[in-house]
Amino acid sequence: GQCVVRCPVGALTERDDIDKVLEVLADEKKTVFVSFAPSVRVAIGEAFGMEPGTVVVGKLVSALRKLGFDRVYDVNFGADLTIVEEANELIERIKGDKPLPMATSCCPGWVNFVERFYPEFIPYLSTCKSPQAMLGALVKAYMVEKEGISKENIVHVTVMPCTAKKYEAARDELAGDTDIVLTTRELGRLLKMFNIDIRDLPEDEADKPFGEYTGAGTIFGVTGGVMEAALRTAADWLSGGSFDKIEFESVRGFEDLKFADVEVGDKKIKVAVAHTLSAAVRLLEMIKNKEVDIHFFEVMACPGGCIGGGGQPIPTTKDILRKRAEGLYSDDEKRILRKSHENPYIKAAYEMFLGEIGGEKAHKLLHTTYSRRPCWEAVFLKK
Ligand code: SF4
Repeated sequence: GQCVVRCPVGALTERDDIDKVLEVLADEKKTVFVSFAPSVRVAIGEAFGMEPGTVVVGKLVSALRKLGFDRVYDVNFGADLTIVEEANELIERIKGDKPLPMATSCCPGWVNFVERFYPEFIPYLSTCKSPQAMLGALVKAYMVEKEGISKENIVHVTVMPCTAKKYEAARDELAGDTDIVLTTRELGRLLKMFNIDIRDLPEDEADKPFGEYTGAGTIFGVTGGVMEAALRTAADWLSGGSFDKIEFESVRGFEDLKFADVEVGDKKIKVAVAHTLSAAVRLLEMIKNKEVDIHFFEVMACPGGCIGGGGQPIPTTKDILRKRAEGLYSDDEKRILRKSHENPYIKAAYEMFLGEIGGEKAHKLLHTTYSRRPCWEAVFLKK
């Protein structure tokens, strides 16, 4: 293998995987499904001269179908699934004896950082796989079990805001969940190779059942969004389904480190949200020195969260970040269902396929493990 120099958390190197996608699309034996991240829908339009933050879902689905993908699903469905498992894990941790505070685990830049530079925090990482990996694991298991397709002929291609997701897909612990990862920029280039202009296309709908999402799934792409989505579900469950509040303003905005208390009945959930690794380090040191007392914290490696990912269209200015964030919050507001556990297709997935939330099958498919890794491993990774 050839060595490539990477940023320490694997978020920066750009390796073009367009050829791999073309190869699987040309292979008739393969069933190829594609899914795209929350933050891609508010950025891909920029590659075609659209205003930053324009929510492009229906046209993006059309474009992906035109490229020849057999099914078009949505990572937002995976985000809803992540929230259901993660909120359940949080409540179990609060009630039980597993370590608190729990940390989000959907950003591979952050997970890589913990494994290499703060391994003492590994037990605090949620064991939930990321939305990309959860969606891949579920869809593949479903296709094998319900449609009789053999696993080696199923290919999962994702469109993601960063190259750290390529690293995540290559982790041994997540082997087979995701096969090829394109960044938003790579998808822009691929569409242009085929003269497909997103602006000219009609709105289409993603395939059922793994293409339907709630407002909570879509805000995963912005800092504070995973936390807000988790709070919507956890607060509902802790209050027996009677929690009216949907918007948690206290975890929104671009301040790099935020703290908030959420009252649920007689309980208080104390949370923190950090974006950029320098803010994460400040938070980790505060936790280590017992200067803060929290139940749950979110970390995203990139400024603003995935809307500011290294694979997004260039440039990403503060103004563009703000517009992309507004795009995601407006997509959330427009959804009829805004809590992940209310997604009818998520409910059906548990009833018909996964069994109990946090149960045996869900654990096998949707959870993962982490391990201490040498810090130099990330710098000279084999390709
Ligand atoms: Fe990738 Fe950045 Fe999002 Fe983390 S925050 S998943 S590194 S785009």
